[in-house]
Amino acid sequence: MFKRGYDARNKRNIQLIYTLDITLTDSDLTNDLLVQFESDNHVKATPDTSYKYVGAAPEHLTERPVVIGFGPCGLLAALTLAQMGFKPIIIERGNEVRQRTKDTFGFWRQRKLNTESNVQFGEGGAGTFSDGKLYSQVKDPNHYGRKVMTEFVKAGAPEEILFVSKPHIGTYKLVTMVEKMRAEIIALGGEVRFATRVDDLHITDSKVTGVTLNTGETLKTNHVVLAVGHSARDTFQMIYDKGVYVEAKPFSIGFRIEHKQSTIDQARFGDNAGNEILGAADYKLVHHCKNGRSVYSFCMCPGGTVVAAASEGRVVTNGMSQYSRNERNANSAIVVGIDPEQDYPNHPLLVSNYKDN
Ligand SMILES: Cc1cc2nc3c(=O)[nH]c(=O)nc-3n(C[C@H](O)[C@H](O)[C@H](O)COP(=O)(O)OP(=O)(O)OC[C@H]3O[C@@H](n4cnc5c(N)ncnc54)[C@H](O)[C@@H]3O)c2cc1C
Repeated sequence: MFKRGYDARNKRNIQLIYTLDITLTDSDLTNDLLVQFESDNHVKATPDTSYKYVGAAPEHLTERPVVIGFGPCGLLAALTLAQMGFKPIIIERGNEVRQRTKDTFGFWRQRKLNTESNVQFGEGGAGTFSDGKLYSQVKDPNHYGRKVMTEFVKAGAPEEILFVSKPHIGTYKLVTMVEKMRAEIIALGGEVRFATRVDDLHITDSKVTGVTLNTGETLKTNHVVLAVGHSARDTFQMIYDKGVYVEAKPFSIGFRIEHKQSTIDQARFGDNAGNEILGAADYKLVHHCKNGRSVYSFCMCPGGTVVAAASEGRVVTNGMSQYSRNERNANSAIVVGIDPEQDYPNHPLLVSNYKDN
């Protein structure tokens, strides 16, 4: 099975859609069929989804790359570099995932926020305590996403993430997976330093030459992967002050709503609500306002929970779930797009803009 999805636009006639890989022993017949069905989008040659490394480390490695941040981006970058032989050094300001889990529950249950180790910061990054939804609307003609999914399966994710149309993993499984991925990086010669922050970036003649850590130590390197996510305001300010080009991206802001999962299942699947193959139903809504802005639902979490997701003294909410998605409620963000050109044209760091003015 290459892909499995469903079409529930008509809840009285829900269609399960399968894309199958078929191997014929007769290669001439295979070619004949492909020619015969050339104009039919339903029959295609199986794409090559294997990952091609862009290079390999030299035998005598003189310099190791530094990866800043151990969220999904840093984790996958470090793993790929390690597999290519580059023995990366990873610097992560938060704690390793077990201690981080305690820090995060300390915030949720006792309101004790550790600003360096929380829902946003620590091993696995903002992705660890999450719904673990693994799909986006990004086009992926080279199947790079397949590499990510394959690594996740190797680390213990359910194999179905390779073929279901809306794969998801859930928090508990993610915690053990990031540990396994860390173990592979270390086995390949990489090094991960937790509870360590990069506070300075050294740049000479427009080239990176090293990083200084909050411990005072400086690591010399000409290759840095900056994978610090979206919440490290101090790090963004530091690189901006260093003259690194920083550009604002459009983003969205809003709030979360929560309602009974059974209401959503009934609305989407009708009599088929609760069917095991369909699982917990999701939804996507959009409203185009007269003023040109759009309000839309985002990151809908079927059968999950709304969680406090602050890394500093502000109110931040997000949604997470377990693999089973069998909690009572569904939740979703309702957000409106913010356009840098229109809404904060003067400064790429919005908060500095507010502080300055
Ligand atoms: C509760 C929750 C649920 C979510 N659910 C989903 C979902 O279902 N599907 C989905 O696609 N996305 C989800 N997201 C969003 C997703 O987690 C993020 O988009 C993703 O984690 C971004 O990955 P990243 O590696 O770029 O950054 P991050 O995950 O933010 O990782 C950055 C890392 O860098 C570290 N760091 C920052 N500054 C420094 C420094 N100076 N020195 C050292 N380390 C530093 C941080 O501690 C952090 O660990 C969710 C997020 C949250 C919080």
